[in-house]
Amino acid sequence: STLANQIAAGEVVERPASIVKELVENALDAGASRIEVQIRQGGLEAIRVSDDGYGIRPDELELAVSPHATSKIASLADLENIASLGFRGEALASIGSVARLTIESRVGEAGSGWRLSLNGREAPPELTPAAHPVGTSVSVSELFYNTPARRRFLRTERTEYRYIEDMLKRLALSRFEVGFTLIHNQREIFRLPPATQPAQRARRVERLCGKAFYRQAWALDFAQEGLRLSGWLGGPQAARAQADLQYVYVNGRSVRDKLINHALRQAYQPRLYPGRHPAWVLYLELDPLKLDVNVHPTKHEVRFHEARRIHDFLAHAVNEALERASP
Ligand code: ADP
Ligand code: MG
Repeated sequence: STLANQIAAGEVVERPASIVKELVENALDAGASRIEVQIRQGGLEAIRVSDDGYGIRPDELELAVSPHATSKIASLADLENIASLGFRGEALASIGSVARLTIESRVGEAGSGWRLSLNGREAPPELTPAAHPVGTSVSVSELFYNTPARRRFLRTERTEYRYIEDMLKRLALSRFEVGFTLIHNQREIFRLPPATQPAQRARRVERLCGKAFYRQAWALDFAQEGLRLSGWLGGPQAARAQADLQYVYVNGRSVRDKLINHALRQAYQPRLYPGRHPAWVLYLELDPLKLDVNVHPTKHEVRFHEARRIHDFLAHAVNEALERASP
């Protein structure tokens, strides 16, 4: 029902950035090699995410926007071993229940493009032919037009824009092989080509995290007993006034985790001026069976089965790296 969707929407669609996240993750799941995000007024006015992925067949467009329809889980057993980012099948339905939603898509070279427009409760969805290259574009506008209470929780254009920019940076740093473009109010903010070579990856990190970080950062790659930590550690000199450049990925997913942050801060602590925050871009990999990623629908959180061991491994790895870099 629409009400149930709106409740679900509260979890998935908090603000423009959460919509961008869901749409970009769908594009990644569809095997896109280039993703373009266009937003107007911090996403409050309009959001459009285009990809060159495998597209959605016209007869499946309506299914894609209906609740709990996902093409990503074939059986319940799959739930145990989720490779794709989305799996609940509720993002598009939720977005469609609180905003105007249009999907244009085309599969394969032979087919032609189709557009599905959802017009809220007043009118039935409309399916019409539309010119579109292979791939999918999802457009969202008039966010929370039918739930004014929600609209009031939104912040200024500037703030919502920052959330989106940060979200996209996080995603771009997790999928180097995919090209990402961000356009805000018709202005190109960044255009990151797919980066497969180490030098290209380095360029992306420098572009997204800034020269100050990259020039004083140490690459790290440390493995021990089934755990691996790699990425870049900002030098203590590149510490910042805010903790705004601390990106952590667990098995490829961006997370904000207290345990991880605690371990990293502990390693940095003796080397920092008080009140300064270190910067890092770090990738932790471990056996997915030793991890719960499904504790929250927005999937920012993880739960480690061996929390103590992970904590000590991280603190040790980072401490070693910092020791070697500046004894
Ligand atoms: P989920 O991602 O959890 O499956 P969504 O509501 O985000 O749920 O999407 C529903 C379905 O729509 C997906 O399972 C997928 O089949 C299809 N879909 C959505 N976005 C895209 C896209 N960009 N390219 C191809 N298929 C898509
Ligand atoms: Mg999804």
